[in-house]
Amino acid sequence: MLIFRQLFDPESSTYTYLLGDSGSAEAVLVDPVFEQVRRDAALIKELGLTLRYTVDTHVHADHVTAAWLMRERLGSRIAVGRHSGAEGADELVAHGQRIPFGRRFLAVRETPGHTAGCITCVLDDERLAFTGDCLLVRGCGRTDFQSGSAGAMYRAVHQQIFTLPDDCVLYPAHDYRGITATSVAEEKAFNPRLGGNLSEEDFVGYMNNLGLPHPKKIDVAVPANLLCGRPAGPHSGAEEPDWGPLVFSFAGFWEIDPRWVEEHLRDVHVLDVREPEEYAGPLGHIEGARLIPLGQLAGQAGALPRDKPIVTVCRAGGRSAQATVILQRAGFQRVANLAGGMLRWRTQGLAVVGGADH
Ligand code: FE
Repeated sequence: MLIFRQLFDPESSTYTYLLGDSGSAEAVLVDPVFEQVRRDAALIKELGLTLRYTVDTHVHADHVTAAWLMRERLGSRIAVGRHSGAEGADELVAHGQRIPFGRRFLAVRETPGHTAGCITCVLDDERLAFTGDCLLVRGCGRTDFQSGSAGAMYRAVHQQIFTLPDDCVLYPAHDYRGITATSVAEEKAFNPRLGGNLSEEDFVGYMNNLGLPHPKKIDVAVPANLLCGRPAGPHSGAEEPDWGPLVFSFAGFWEIDPRWVEEHLRDVHVLDVREPEEYAGPLGHIEGARLIPLGQLAGQAGALPRDKPIVTVCRAGGRSAQATVILQRAGFQRVANLAGGMLRWRTQGLAVVGGADH
């Protein structure tokens, strides 16, 4: 079975695509965004997938790729088009090349025009294709910088994308209006720049008169992406907290293993965010846990000690996850949620103060 997830970065309006082969549990990630590396790595982990490749459809000007970070974290290989000019990739892919994941693959089609190195990745059965910034929903990428060429884009779209089956679903690298996908037939019929009977001359004239502003992130993004997103400084953004066995959840916060917490109660502050009657109730509480109900936490956070990491706990791990967010907003760096809360703590037979016997 094919696993398919469309992910969105709101800052740059970039779509990232995760494709997995459930039989082999191998996956490929198309156009990952640097700031979303924790989210994407957590999702890949939660789905039980092994990331084989990251693929960048081109050297992006509006965001930095997470290709390098993903290779550092998950051991994936970096694939980019051979004409991209990027250094440090594991594979510079050419037209017709396959990027495998399990029994499935993406086939590379070179579709220059937005940049000279743009590629479109087509799923093996031609039911889906990832067009990058070549063909967008009812639009296309700009062609006025990064060795762009309107003529090349017109020919790429007509020869490499419009030749796919009409019902092939097309997924762009961006959409600024929230549209998530289109199809070959739709774009042939309705793309105002490239569809219908518009000629190459019509298209070139249109593109050469767009008068677009300079992209705001280009001065940072292009040099970084020419190095596949490798940070210049020492591992900025890649750092994992090292004070305990933490796992970043796809919901966006750090979680910690209950058993480790029991063995390291002296190394952390345990903050219980339940109500007083729960704290004194049948589940009991963790030895030394300080009680501040969630509703009072924002007001009292400033008085909490900062000498040790804080582990938040509640009944099942939901309120305490929110507590980590409140604490981080209050400037606490070393904060984690006790995974599964007191319920899992009790299930694992860990020590409590008070509470009813099992
Ligand atoms: Fe782009």
